[in-house]
Amino acid sequence: MSHPTIQLRPGVNNVNQWQGAERKRAVPDKLRKQVLARDDFTCASCNHRAMKWMHIHHIADEENDELENLATICPACHAVMHFGLSMQFGSLEIWKSPIAQVEIVRQTREGIRKGLTLAEINASFSLKKGKLAPDSMRWANDLLASIEAEPRAELPEPLCAVFVEFKQWQVDA
Ligand SMILES: [Zn+2]
Ligand SMILES: [Zn+2]
Repeated sequence: MSHPTIQLRPGVNNVNQWQGAERKRAVPDKLRKQVLARDDFTCASCNHRAMKWMHIHHIADEENDELENLATICPACHAVMHFGLSMQFGSLEIWKSPIAQVEIVRQTREGIRKGLTLAEINASFSLKKGKLAPDSMRWANDLLASIEAEPRAELPEPLCAVFVEFKQWQVDA
C-alpha cells in the first residue's frame, strides 16, 4: 500500500462526529504502528519525518479506522487540519496568504530551526487580513455551519492558517 498524500488546507470535522472523534482520538497502538511503518514516519502533507510524536489523522470519516482512511501527520499539519480546535487553544490565526498552506508549515519549521520567532517568520509571508479578523473563530464556525453530511470542510484559498503560539516543531528529533 502506498503512502497517502494530503493537500494541506485548514479544515474542520463534522460536529456530529466529534463525540466519536473524542472517544477514538488515539487509534489502537497496533494500528498506529502499522500506519507509521507504512508511511515511514513521514507527514502526508509536508513530508516532515520524525521518529517521535507523529500523529495519525483520519483522512475523511473520523469513525473509520481502515488503513486507507489513516495517515501519518506531523503535529503542525494536524493543527491546521483541525484549525477550529487549534484556534480555541490560540495556536493559529487565519490570514490571506500568497503562498500555499503547506509552504507556511515548511517555512515556519525551517525558521524555527534557524532560531527565529514565530512573529519574525510570519512577517516574511506578506499576509493580508481576510474579511474577518485574523484570530476570528467565525472562520471555523461558519465552515462548520456549512457542513451537511460531509465528514470535513476546508477553507478556500487564499485563506491559510499561520502559527502564533505553537511549539511542537520536532526540529531536534
Ligand atoms: Zn506536516
Ligand atoms: Zn486528524
